[in-house]
Amino acid sequence: MTATKLRPQLRQAVPDVAPALLEKGLITPEQMKAVTLASQVGDFRRGIDPGDPTFKIAVLLGYAKPADAALELARALGVVAYVLVAGFPVDPALVNAVPRELDEKRLVVPLFHDGKNLALVAASAPLGADAARLLSEALDVADLLYLPVRREEMPALIETIQKAVRQRESQGVRLGEILVREGLLTADKLQPTIAAARAARMPLGRYMVKADMVDETVLFKTLAGMAEIPFLGSEEAMRLVKDSTLKQRLKKEYVKFNMIMPYAVRNRVLHALTANPFVKANELPHSYSCTRMELSVVTESAFAMLYEKAYGEAMGLSDAKLSSADRGARDEEGVSADEADIRARFEHILNRLILRAIQIGSSDIHIENYGDTVTTRLRVDGVLHPVHDAGIDKDTLRGVVNVLKIEAEMNIAETRQPQGGSFRKITPDGAVYDFRVQVMPTVNGETAVIRLLPGKKTIPTLAQIGFPARVLEGFERAINNPSGLILVTGPTGSGKTTTLCSALSRVAQDPTCKVLTVEDPVEYQLPNVTQVETIPSKGVDFAAAARSFMRMDPDVILIGEIRDEETAQEALKLAYSGHLTFSTLHTSSAVSTVERMYGFGLDKSLLIEQMLAVNSQRLLRRLCPKCRTPYVPDESVLQTILYRGIPEGMRFYESKGCDHCKGLGHSGRAMLSEFLNFTGSTRATFRRESEQNLIYMQLMGRGLEPMIDDAFNKVHRGYIDVRWLPEVIPQDYLELGPSPLIDMDPKAPLFGE
Ligand SMILES: [Zn+2]
Repeated sequence: MTATKLRPQLRQAVPDVAPALLEKGLITPEQMKAVTLASQVGDFRRGIDPGDPTFKIAVLLGYAKPADAALELARALGVVAYVLVAGFPVDPALVNAVPRELDEKRLVVPLFHDGKNLALVAASAPLGADAARLLSEALDVADLLYLPVRREEMPALIETIQKAVRQRESQGVRLGEILVREGLLTADKLQPTIAAARAARMPLGRYMVKADMVDETVLFKTLAGMAEIPFLGSEEAMRLVKDSTLKQRLKKEYVKFNMIMPYAVRNRVLHALTANPFVKANELPHSYSCTRMELSVVTESAFAMLYEKAYGEAMGLSDAKLSSADRGARDEEGVSADEADIRARFEHILNRLILRAIQIGSSDIHIENYGDTVTTRLRVDGVLHPVHDAGIDKDTLRGVVNVLKIEAEMNIAETRQPQGGSFRKITPDGAVYDFRVQVMPTVNGETAVIRLLPGKKTIPTLAQIGFPARVLEGFERAINNPSGLILVTGPTGSGKTTTLCSALSRVAQDPTCKVLTVEDPVEYQLPNVTQVETIPSKGVDFAAAARSFMRMDPDVILIGEIRDEETAQEALKLAYSGHLTFSTLHTSSAVSTVERMYGFGLDKSLLIEQMLAVNSQRLLRRLCPKCRTPYVPDESVLQTILYRGIPEGMRFYESKGCDHCKGLGHSGRAMLSEFLNFTGSTRATFRRESEQNLIYMQLMGRGLEPMIDDAFNKVHRGYIDVRWLPEVIPQDYLELGPSPLIDMDPKAPLFGE
C-alpha cells in the first residue's frame, strides 16, 4: 500500500449535486445559482477555488448542511455501502481503517469511498499535505474530497461516528464467537476470516456467505436460534410484508441501517422482520404505540429483496453473489421474470409517448389522474391535445409514473410529496432533449408533467419572427439608433426573449459594438454578447447589474425585465447616457407601457424623449399550411369577433389536420405585434394627452401599428384562424376594430407560399 499521488482537485470526476439539493428543497434556486457561480469564479473569502465541487461550495456558503451534501454526493457517486450516523453516510470499514488518534488530532473523519479511488472525509479545515498523505495511505485511495464541518462540531461528530461503528464491530465479534461455538467456523480461522471480511469492507456473516464458507440459510437459522427468535423463509416473509403499510412510517435509511421491517400490530405488539437477530431497536414499538416487539429472522438476501420491493431501490449490499442469489430465488418464485416484463411494458409506454411528443413538436406532456380515468395530453404550440391511445389508464398509471421517477432519479417510494427531477434522451436521429419532470400528489393519486427542452435553441432572425412588414421596418430603424430605450412587452410565454435575442444578435454582428445583458435566466447563448445571470441572494439583481454595466463601457445593453422603480431608473439613465437599451415589461399593450413607466416615477419628458419603440406581443399557434382551406365563418363568430363587420376582401382559413401537422391542424407559432414607433408626432401626442384610449385612437396608423391590424392581416394571409383571436386579444381591442388604413389586398400572398 504505497502512497499514491495526491490530486487535491479532481474536478471532472466529482458530480454536481446542486440540482439534486435544489430538487429536494435543501437549497433555493437563488442559492443554486450562487453555488454555480462560485464554482465558476471562486470566492476567495470563503476559501472557494474556481472549479471546486458544488457539494463543498453549498456547505461553505452556508446553504446546505454537511450531512445533506455528503448524502447527495454519495447518491450521485452511486455509493451504497454506508450506514447513516447522525445523518451522515458512513462506511464503517473506512472509519476502522484510520487510527482514532489521527481523527482526533487532525479533526477529521472518513465517511465513504466511491469504490474506486476517491474518499470523502469530513474535516474542520482543508487538509494539509501531511494529513492528506496519511489519510490517503490509510484509506488506500488516490484522492480525498473534503467536506467542511464546523470546527466546534467535529469532536462530537467523530465521537458519534466511532461509537456507532464500535457498536457494529462488537456485533461482528460476537457473531464470530457464535459461529465458532456452533461449529460453522473453526477457532483458528476466526481471526483471519474477520480480517479478510474487514479488508473486503463487509460484515463477517456476509463475507462468509460470499466466500462460500457457509450457506446463508444455515447461518441465519443458527443466528436466529442463538437469539431465540423464529426464522422465516423468504416466501413466508414476503407474504407477511406484502400488504402491510406499516413500513411506510419508517425512513428507509432506518430500515436499511437496522435491517428491520415492521409488518403488523396485534394487541399492542409490533411484529417485525429482521436480518440482524441482535438488533437493538427498543424505540421502535413505542413509535407504533406498542408495548413490545416480536421479531422474526430472515436471511440478508431475503431482507434485501423485501427492501427492494418496499422502496423500489436496491438495498446496496454491494455484493454480486448475494444479488445474483437473490435474483435466482425470485426466478424460482416466478416473480422476477414477470416483473421485468411489466417494467419493460411501462418503459415502452413512456418511451413511445415521449417520442411522439418530440415528433409532434410538443413542449409538455401532462399525465393527469382523475381517479377512474387517466388523461394524457400534449401541449403543442401552446394548446393541449388529448392522446387517446397513450396506453396509460388507472391500471398502468402507477407503473408508468414509477418508471418516470426512476428515469428522473426521484424517490419512487415517496408518493405524498411533490417531487421534481430530470433526465436526458437522445432521439434516434441524434437530437438531444432534456426532460424536466414534476410529479405531484393529488386527491386521486399522483399526476405528472414532463417538460421537453430541446438541447439547442436556434435564434430566428428578425425577418423570421413574423413582424408585419411596416413593423419590421420600424423595429430595424429603432435598433439602428446609437442610444435610446426599446421595450418589448407581453405576458409570460409571449416570445419577448426571442424577439430581444434576435435583435441583439443582429446588433452584435457589428464588431465595433459591445453588448452586455443581464437575464434571469439566460435562455439563448448569443455570440459576441457578454451575458450575466441575476443572483438575488448575492444582490445581483437587474438594477445592480445595470449600475455596474455603466463602468464596463458598453454600447448596447439588455436588462432582462423592469419590475421596479430602481431598475426603471437605471434603464432610463443608461439610455440618456448614450446607450442603446433594451428591456421587457409585463404590460398588455404598447400605449399602456409608457403609462406603466411613468408609474415607476420617471421623469415624463425625459422618458418620452428617450423612447425609441415599444413592441407589445403575443404568440398564437399557426395554421398548418398543408391542410389549410378557405372557409366562411359562422354568423355568430362574426358577431362576437368582427364587431364592425368584415373588412373588405378579407379571407378566412381553417385546417382540419393532416399527416404534416399530425392531425392537429396547426404547426408552429405566429407572433402578433402591436408596435409603437416614437417619431416627433408620437412624442408630441404623449406629451399632450394622458388618456390612453385617446392616445391609441390618435396614433392609430400614425406611429402605432395596432395588434388587431396585424391579427386580421394574419387571418387574411392564412396564418391563423379568426376564431382563435379572443384567446390573445382583449375584447375592448376587438371592439375598437382595425384601423382605417388596414389593407386587405385580395392578392396578398398566403403565408408559406
Ligand atoms: Zn395539416
